[in-house]
Amino acid sequence: METKGKVLLVGAGPGDVELLTLKAVRALGEADVILIDDLVSREILQYARANARIIEVGKRGGCKSTPQAFIEKMLVNFANEGLIVARLKGGDPFVFGRGGEEMLALREAGVDYEIVPGITAGIGATSAIEIPVTHRSLSHGVTFVTGHLRDGSMPNWQALAQSGTTLVIYMGIANLASILEGLSAGGMSMDTPAAAVQAGTLPTQRSVIGTLGTLEREVGVAHISSPALIVIGKVVNLARVVAEAQSMRDAA
Ligand code: SAH
Repeated sequence: METKGKVLLVGAGPGDVELLTLKAVRALGEADVILIDDLVSREILQYARANARIIEVGKRGGCKSTPQAFIEKMLVNFANEGLIVARLKGGDPFVFGRGGEEMLALREAGVDYEIVPGITAGIGATSAIEIPVTHRSLSHGVTFVTGHLRDGSMPNWQALAQSGTTLVIYMGIANLASILEGLSAGGMSMDTPAAAVQAGTLPTQRSVIGTLGTLEREVGVAHISSPALIVIGKVVNLARVVAEAQSMRDAA
């Protein structure tokens, strides 16, 4: 009897294995084939079956990665062979993860699929440095935005500067100078609290805190690099690192 294949588009969360969902763990345990992005912690593969085939489809900025069309083709082909395929993505598959494109390709090909949401970095990595992305009286909204657009264009920083929401910027480290410039030109005060967190929730996590005016220098001095998030807004003042830096300054 022919078994029907299926693709599970799985969010692996921001890094810490314990932030996987029970559904993600179940999907890993079921999968015959696992396609994994390079942002996903390899530790997560402890939940894969011993005989699962693991395929690395790296996508880190600048490096050679598997073309998207090829990934979509693999998903469809494996499912059509009757295999259970887990497509593991960092964070949530639908937040800057191209999960939408993969879902559409599967839908078009008539392949069964299931979406397993994950904790996006904008929630996980910000929590890791104790920044509540919304907070009564400080921020009544949060905007997730990418600092890196494929066609080289930029988000509307002026509109974002004036939105009054906490800004959580993904993939923004390479364009940090022009992002900060755009926000300042858009009317945001140079004193607005700003943070960057690299590898949030992982043992290698590092972060810096400053303001719109100082963040670039802080990031440079600390050599914060990808994968990192930038957080801008008053809620950054609640971060744990602020408290630590402040008490260090007080003690000095
Ligand atoms: N789908 C993912 C985002 C993919 S885009 C999600 O929902 O989180 C990749 C970007 O996410 C990185 O460039 C970085 O900006 C951010 N990112 C992912 N994991 C991160 C982490 N552990 N700490 C900080 N930023 C992270």
